[in-house]
Amino acid sequence: MALTPQQTQLLQTTIEKRRQMLLAELREDWQRVRRDQEELFGNVPDPGDASVATLIADLDKADLGRDLSEMRALEAARERLREGTYGVCIDCGRDIGVGRLKANPVALRCIADQTLFEKTFGSPTGSSL
Ligand SMILES: [Zn+2]
Repeated sequence: MALTPQQTQLLQTTIEKRRQMLLAELREDWQRVRRDQEELFGNVPDPGDASVATLIADLDKADLGRDLSEMRALEAARERLREGTYGVCIDCGRDIGVGRLKANPVALRCIADQTLFEKTFGSPTGSSL
């Protein structure tokens, strides 16, 4: 079933709020990365410390990377809202369903296609460690 204008409005508000929060988080992430790097790389006494510094910097970047990919997903959802294609599965063209969109407002695919996508390409949030 297609989204009603009220449902679309509600999801749009959710997306906008999340985007504002994420923007604030990204600013903090970025400041923390810069601060950590200054502290850690500013004065590195021996190679052992240097590798710890690199590790911490990488963890910071992973954090930043997660927030950035969520931001990209939110921007894509806003784009689809503008174009009127929001809530339509990008693979099969059917409605994603309001229940799924409430749980995940940036969903691109219906549950069936998302499951298939993750089986084929692996979960984007899955750990590679
Ligand atoms: Zn689909």
